Amino acid sequence: MNPLYRNDTPGAYPPSWYAASTDLPPPRAALEGDRRADLAVVGGGYTGLWAALTAARAGLDVVLCDAHRVGFGASGRNGGQASTGYNKDQRWLEARVGAGAARQLWDMAEDAKTQLRDFCFDHAPEAEYRPGVAYGTYSAGDVRHVHDDAAHLARHYGYDSIEPLDRASMRALVKTPLYHGGILDHGSGHLHPLRYALALAREAEAAGATIHELTEVTALNPGEPAMLTTPTGTLRAHHVILAGNGYLPGIAPAVSARVMPINSFIAATEPLPDSWQEVLARDIAVADSKFVVNYYRFSEDRRFLFGGRESYSLGFPTDIRGALIRRMAALFPQLEGVRIDHVWGGTLGITMTRLPALQRIGPNILSGAGFSGHGVALSGMAGRIMAEAVTGQAGRFDVMASLPIPVFPGGAALRAPLLTLGMTWYSLRDRLGI
Ligand SMILES: Cc1cc2nc3c(=O)[nH]c(=O)nc-3n(C[C@H](O)[C@H](O)[C@H](O)COP(=O)(O)OP(=O)(O)OC[C@H]3O[C@@H](n4cnc5c(N)ncnc54)[C@H](O)[C@@H]3O)c2cc1C
Repeated sequence: MNPLYRNDTPGAYPPSWYAASTDLPPPRAALEGDRRADLAVVGGGYTGLWAALTAARAGLDVVLCDAHRVGFGASGRNGGQASTGYNKDQRWLEARVGAGAARQLWDMAEDAKTQLRDFCFDHAPEAEYRPGVAYGTYSAGDVRHVHDDAAHLARHYGYDSIEPLDRASMRALVKTPLYHGGILDHGSGHLHPLRYALALAREAEAAGATIHELTEVTALNPGEPAMLTTPTGTLRAHHVILAGNGYLPGIAPAVSARVMPINSFIAATEPLPDSWQEVLARDIAVADSKFVVNYYRFSEDRRFLFGGRESYSLGFPTDIRGALIRRMAALFPQLEGVRIDHVWGGTLGITMTRLPALQRIGPNILSGAGFSGHGVALSGMAGRIMAEAVTGQAGRFDVMASLPIPVFPGGAALRAPLLTLGMTWYSLRDRLGI
């Protein structure tokens, strides 16, 4: 089934606190008739919007199509955490791709955070970017690991924004008895994801890009120009950037082979203006070391935004609310009984190595996807370096595209059940604490 329509109403933002707290613009017109462009972008999340913005600023005629609305996908529903680095630590990357490429990758990840912060400062103050993301761990071994990582980053990359936390200092900051310690990264931050996406769309248009909403690209024919088919038109373009991530239907088999959709879920409580500091001492975001990661923070109106459950089949499970409440209460018994006002889910693309999959699908077709829960900052960078590659500077694209991203085993028929089996095993280990 087409992931674009499995869990959502066509053209409507999901019932999230983000949508409820945003002044949503009216839908943009769908593509009608035949259009030509220098660059066609498929997908209006951070990846596609940054690609469109960057290419339009470089003077290209850019047309972006989204099947629903800009920021409809993961970019408008996520945990809002713009984290440092990749899903694999720098020591892992050094061992796999060599010290030189690992350094270039690190620089790009740092640039991704800077670009996001600067954009919010200049164009999207309403996205309320705030610094500080803590990482909580459940065992003394995990604490040692993250402290060693922090020391490695300080020594070899000059990154000294990470404060190691022992058990007592972690507990003073994040008021759960379950964490053994962790880190506080002052160089990461969190923001309102949907307002950030909408501001990117606004700026892309201001730079000259055309955005069509309610416009699914149903077929892609390679060639020069490449031709994209939509229900009410066609788009011929010299270059194409695919940025559909976990929502991309099967129009590009090379992408589907390496990027699989999974779902993650978030609940927003009632506002807790008087008691929020019984949970977090400071206005930071937190993620933890569970395989099915818990991630949370407070909104600007002091709702607790708690994300945690995952599912691996295309359809959302029925009991999202109950599962999130149980996970939240296990960490923070002090929140028992608070009202939940919003619950929503979203689909994200993951890869085998949980690293971004940047690919050349054809001489003039690029794809960026599979950010695996680490895409708030990195997907924007992917969009930017794909646009750079289109304008003739492929250096950074080639480095990120060299990350090891094997195809999922099992082929089209078996990969989803195999992934479900593997993920379920790891989630079980989370629950058993092994
Ligand atoms: C619940 C949740 C929590 C998350 N939390 C975090 C977090 O805290 N930190 C973090 O770093 N990452 C997080 N992520 C991941 C992060 O949100 C994504 O990595 C990032 O938003 C990916 O952006 P994107 O532009 O590549 O994809 P998306 O934002 O998903 O955008 C893809 C767009 O493409 C469109 N599309 C797809 N196919 C077509 C087509 N054929 N034609 C037209 N349009 C098409 C879709 O409609 C969609 O709008 C989370 C994800 C979810 C779902």
